Amino acid sequence: MADLMQTYPRKRDGRIERRTWRVDLDAALALTRSKRFDLVRLEAEVREMAEHFPRWVLTASAGREPAPCPSCGGLLVFDRGLRCVECERATRSRALLKSANLAWFGLLPPIGIDGLRKLKRALVAKAPPKHVVGQRPELGHYLLVPLLARYPRDFPASAVQVAYQPGLFGVRGMPPESASHSTHMLGGGFMCLFASGQWRRVMTAREVLQQRAYAHVIKLLNYGAGNRRSFAKVS
Ligand SMILES: [Zn+2]
Repeated sequence: MADLMQTYPRKRDGRIERRTWRVDLDAALALTRSKRFDLVRLEAEVREMAEHFPRWVLTASAGREPAPCPSCGGLLVFDRGLRCVECERATRSRALLKSANLAWFGLLPPIGIDGLRKLKRALVAKAPPKHVVGQRPELGHYLLVPLLARYPRDFPASAVQVAYQPGLFGVRGMPPESASHSTHMLGGGFMCLFASGQWRRVMTAREVLQQRAYAHVIKLLNYGAGNRRSFAKVS
């Protein structure tokens, strides 16, 4: 069952402790209200994410962001129902549950930014909220990009939707985040990842993140660094 366990670092008395729980699949599935999204499929999705994106957590979305705990603003996770990872209160807010989608939230692996010139300088000077800029000898400066991947109400008939978090498009050099063909954006921070007819219902959130969203982020950062043809190549 190890791969149905999730973990999240939280602050307690000034120290970081790892909080670990077993994903409540029934509560997660209940949030989707999709007739075609069943426990077998959901469990497969969770196991695949545990293998490839082990730090990502299953949560409830509010638009493009994780829905905040109504009590403390913390991250909500599926631990014995939908529960705040910080204050541990169970969330029964009907308004929240009604508007939320089932979603994944986490950071992509480090992306080297030393080749991104001015964009790198802007990112190092001030990382947007939830984004992490760091430096390692073998990688140089890198950026950790947070994304939210949500399951639409009619999943798996419709594709997993992936969104940037607020702030990245405010970095000097980045394009506006409005809908655009040149940056493959749908508006509202969501990526355009599939041409009409490309989505297959067997595709998983892990595949969408690894095979499409990651490439979108690389292209967007290159676009922000001045390469206006970064999305021109067919991926
Ligand atoms: Zn809370």
